[in-house]
Amino acid sequence: MIGIYGGTFNPIHSGHLRAAEEVVDALELARMVFVPSARPPHKEGDEGIIAPARQRLAWVELAIQGNARFCVDAIEVDRPGPSYLVDTLEALSQRFADEELVFVVGRDAFCEMGSWRSPRALFAACHIAVTSRPPVVGGQLAEWLPECARADFELAPDGLSGRHLSAGTWIRQLEITALDVSATAIRERLAQGAPVDHMVPPAAHAAIVASQCYNDPSPGVAPGDR
Ligand code: ATP
Repeated sequence: MIGIYGGTFNPIHSGHLRAAEEVVDALELARMVFVPSARPPHKEGDEGIIAPARQRLAWVELAIQGNARFCVDAIEVDRPGPSYLVDTLEALSQRFADEELVFVVGRDAFCEMGSWRSPRALFAACHIAVTSRPPVVGGQLAEWLPECARADFELAPDGLSGRHLSAGTWIRQLEITALDVSATAIRERLAQGAPVDHMVPPAAHAAIVASQCYNDPSPGVAPGDR
């Protein structure tokens, strides 16, 4: 089974790597494929800058270098238009036709999936592992499974997993010891000139800082001039 770890990775951080490691172990995955999003439709209008997709992709490549269980796929970066997950999973299912896929997503993002494109198709496309993420919120899958998917899943009596009634795919809740790190906090610190050494993977740290992508723009200076 192969894990698909989607995200904006703006920038990639230690929380992502730690979560990915734990999921690979917990589900005994053959590998984890990081899939940086090019133009995340659900993050449009967010505060702050989204670094260029190729840049975010390059940071992921640096961060996972030398880890035999991790790889990165540029499928969303290479595809024009918004990065709809349903399209990505369809393409990856064809590419890895002999493998089972599990989409790995934090609980915060999972709860939003009902508003992503073609949500019912999304929940049937592959297995989904929902990981905890600080701040850890209580409750079980039964409570935070998006409304539009409820009729399609039969939940286990312990409330920690569910099986899609027609597609046979599962959703599993995974408790992991994720780190209390977010890309938002890293961007804020970089804008203030504060160190982020403890928050980003060492192999990507120099490139992230040198890019100056998140520096506080001086008035009148265009991002390209920085
Ligand atoms: P931002 O702060 O910009 O919203 P982020 O830190 O949430 O970014 P994303 O690239 O949006 O990072 O996250 C990709 C995936 O990684 C999501 O499924 C998210 O839930 C998960 N994730 C992010 N940070 C952590 C963390 N510290 N521990 C576990 N999972 C995480």
